[in-house]
Amino acid sequence: MSPLFSVCVYCGSRPGAKPEFAQAAQAVGTWIGVHGGQLVYGGGRGGLMGIVAQATLQAGGRVVGVIPQALVEMEAANHDCTELHIVDTMHERKRMMAERADVFLALPGGIGTFEELFEVWTWRQLGYHDKPIGVLNVEGYYDPLLTFLKATVAQQFLGDWQMELIRTGTDVLPLLPELVQAAGLTPAAQLAQI
Ligand code: AMP
Repeated sequence: MSPLFSVCVYCGSRPGAKPEFAQAAQAVGTWIGVHGGQLVYGGGRGGLMGIVAQATLQAGGRVVGVIPQALVEMEAANHDCTELHIVDTMHERKRMMAERADVFLALPGGIGTFEELFEVWTWRQLGYHDKPIGVLNVEGYYDPLLTFLKATVAQQFLGDWQMELIRTGTDVLPLLPELVQAAGLTPAAQLAQI
């Protein structure tokens, strides 16, 4: 069965300091899987990336991993993916991930996550795509960044309309279904009990 929707998740290659980060990654993957969706992600086994992929697979979802050849060992490429694409460059990875996505969701992570989030956000403001973008603000992880971004609006380097291009939420529900619905797609009623 082809997936009903495709969520590109950007998140840490490490698990982070709080157990709630892993719990959120698990919840995201489970929600995608039980609602007939597909995860698109960076293709590694480590950290939150590995957790969200494993949870999606366990819940019956498809997982598309995209990893540059140079990172196959460093990031422990996940050969359990439904599709694992080993590409030549980071640019190719990011382009394929963006193309395969209906929506984007950032979880807590490091500079790789930030870079990916900011890239799809800037692409959206330029009109290169119109896919919904969400930030899952687990345990207030993104509070300092959001405070800073609001300060940049006050300093007139950013407009309110640009801030409105990203949706933030503290929990998977309702943020993730709202993103999918904003893309004009309908998640399945829960497919399986897990
Ligand atoms: P991090 O959030 O730093 O743990 O990284 C999460 C993921 O982002 C990892 O798979 C990194 O390979 C990836 N990443 C790191 N730097 C970049 C970059 N410049 N562009 C795209 N992905 C990156």
